[in-house]
Amino acid sequence: MNPGYIVFAAVIILIVGVSLFFIFRSRNDTPPVPADTSSAPAETDAPETEAKPAPFIEVPTADSAAGDLILVNYDHAYVFPEKDDLVNVYENKTGDFKVAYSYYMMSRHVLDVLISLTHELSESTGEDDLTVNSAYRSLEEQQEIYDEYRDTWGEETAKLYVADPGYSEHHTGLAADLTLVRDDGTALPILQSGAYDEIIRLLRDNGFILRYPEGKKEVTRIETEPWHFRYVGLPHSLIIEKTGLCFEEYIAFLKNFTPDGNVLFVNGSGRLLSVPFEGTASAGSGCAVYRVAASDEAVTRIPVPAGVDAPAVSGDNDGGFIVTVTFGAAPVRVTGVSDDVAAMIDAIAPSN
Ligand SMILES: [Zn+2]
Repeated sequence: MNPGYIVFAAVIILIVGVSLFFIFRSRNDTPPVPADTSSAPAETDAPETEAKPAPFIEVPTADSAAGDLILVNYDHAYVFPEKDDLVNVYENKTGDFKVAYSYYMMSRHVLDVLISLTHELSESTGEDDLTVNSAYRSLEEQQEIYDEYRDTWGEETAKLYVADPGYSEHHTGLAADLTLVRDDGTALPILQSGAYDEIIRLLRDNGFILRYPEGKKEVTRIETEPWHFRYVGLPHSLIIEKTGLCFEEYIAFLKNFTPDGNVLFVNGSGRLLSVPFEGTASAGSGCAVYRVAASDEAVTRIPVPAGVDAPAVSGDNDGGFIVTVTFGAAPVRVTGVSDDVAAMIDAIAPSN
């Protein structure tokens, strides 16, 4: 037989095997708690004549391991919090989608987004067979999955498809594996939905990213997984899609943007720019994103643009916080990238 056919057959068997393995149980435990951003900005008492330090908020430094933008991968363990916001997907679902098992759990705010977008999907396309095929996983559950996979396929293959226990995105409550299950029980990849483009658009426009995209295995250390979506929120999903960065690369890219330099800015027409932190508040409507390194103290001081009192703050689980500030209307699309920002993207992912 042609060796090509054997390889092809092996790949098909592997894909089928992986799909089957992504039908699991789920239990309680702990996803991230959003960083506390309730503190009001405080003016410092620098003399009026000096360059005035920016106002700031204070957040617990430990929160740098929590939030919608945490990186969880082979070398960034998930930090299980004391308290979680997991809810049962089946019991709380009101949207037009299905759930493979009634015990699946997910972060409340992510489920809310999924409910709303699947409702829109069903209204506009009639597709209502979108199915959550895996969501939150406890440490024990990930261990069981890993062991089972390793015993069946061997260590090397297991490493490519199943994260080590403690290092899985499924611990966060922010990830969902999505498939289609037709009424006769037939399970299909979402790619086979006539509404595939709309599914992808709605996921992206509502804050989800394809976490293990094609061509990024060297970075993510996980094979392409066209079914695994991760909630990161807006405008991050839009930026990630436009720049072609995978999430590891995006977190590295954001290190270019700090309060003592420039911030990343998506302006009103959707253009991605680098603008001075000082000028952010006068840059017009749009969204500013920047990173603040976590301090060595119990509390980290986060500078905020003048006039902003409640920025969205998430840890990156990589020693810092990502701050997102929206001025006026939030951008709904990233349409272009300025040359200096394009150069930064190229420095991180030359192939893009
Ligand atoms: Zn997954």
